[in-house]
Amino acid sequence: LVAPDGTVEQTVFGQMTQLAAAHGAVNLGQGAPGDPAPGFLLESAHRAMLAGHNQYSPPQGLPALREAVAEQRLRDWGQRTDPADVLVTTGATEALTAALVALAPAGSEVVVLEPYYDSYAAAAALSGARIRPVGLRQTPTGPAVDFEALTAAVGPQTSVVLLNTPHNPTGLVLDEEDLRRIWEIVEPSGARVLTDEVYEHLVFDARHTALAALVDDPRIVTVSSAGKAFNATGWKVGWLIGAPAVVQAVQSVKQFLTFVSGAPLQPAVAAALREHPEFLRENAQALAARRDVLLDALREVPGVHVDSPASGYFALADFAEVTDEDAAALNARLTREAGVTGIPAPALCAAGSPTAGRLRSVIRYSFCKSAADVDLAAERIREFA
Ligand code: PMP
Ligand code: GLN
Repeated sequence: LVAPDGTVEQTVFGQMTQLAAAHGAVNLGQGAPGDPAPGFLLESAHRAMLAGHNQYSPPQGLPALREAVAEQRLRDWGQRTDPADVLVTTGATEALTAALVALAPAGSEVVVLEPYYDSYAAAAALSGARIRPVGLRQTPTGPAVDFEALTAAVGPQTSVVLLNTPHNPTGLVLDEEDLRRIWEIVEPSGARVLTDEVYEHLVFDARHTALAALVDDPRIVTVSSAGKAFNATGWKVGWLIGAPAVVQAVQSVKQFLTFVSGAPLQPAVAAALREHPEFLRENAQALAARRDVLLDALREVPGVHVDSPASGYFALADFAEVTDEDAAALNARLTREAGVTGIPAPALCAAGSPTAGRLRSVIRYSFCKSAADVDLAAERIREFA
């Protein structure tokens, strides 16, 4: 992202948001929910502000939020968690960045499933580590982990294996067998496993499983956040769960990145996690309905292939049989001609990787937008087909 003249490019999400706006297209690019955050969350933050939660919070995060996260992990995924092992961060992004800076020494390798969320590469670059992508396999039933490739990639040079499940952008949800096999591969290497579970509640056709609930090992570190759970991506309240030495190391980095995270938001997220599990289920159901609206429309475009994602915000549409254009050129043309903008999937890969090649004609479309926007996009896709 940093050009030789020192200028820093915007992320692909920012670029595509501008592209959509310039052409009045429906923006199915950035994964930012179209529905508002629930009233109970907003009222509770308001009360916290009025009650004086407006100065620096405790460095490790508000105890009530650390307790609520620990309870939620046990309630939802059976992961026994001590609130003392929870560190509150400024979104999952800060948890991941601080964790890589703390745990991935310069020169070591960070193994990631590819395609991957763009901040991973930037976070690894900050720590001086190298990203080692392991491409997901495409099977007739959808994406899957390539265990052979993972075995080949993990070794003494690996400091961290960063697993995103549920996965952005494929929707792959790693099941218990996948996670146990991955741990068997990683364990002998001595590397840590960092799980990015920000889509944990947005699972439609599978069940989320937390590696830390299956395997009790101080090398497993969990990251998640409230943004996707409560349609509040702008709040940037996240957390990391790990062994005491890990939490201490990550906190020592975090203290110089942001010091602490938003004080009045923390009691509100704590109350929401405790008191509103029904919202998490209802939100997933609403999202699954929008997924189906978008899939039905995309499937009417002759030659387009699209798997039904089991989770998350995104559908991947493959246009290889429709055009020779690459995804970036096609996405720009569809923005102009169809009035719908997505994210070119190769932007979520290491430049020039085999996976980027396989996804050459694939566009990622977000269905987490408002029902009206998803309906409008579906209508425009049908007209274009
Ligand atoms: N990980 C993944 C896979 C994501 O898609 C996102 C999305 N924004 C994040 C992390 C960042 O989460 P947060 O907004 O809590 O920093
Ligand atoms: N996670 C969101 C996505 O994948 C975007 C967040 C961002 O814009 N950085 O679309």
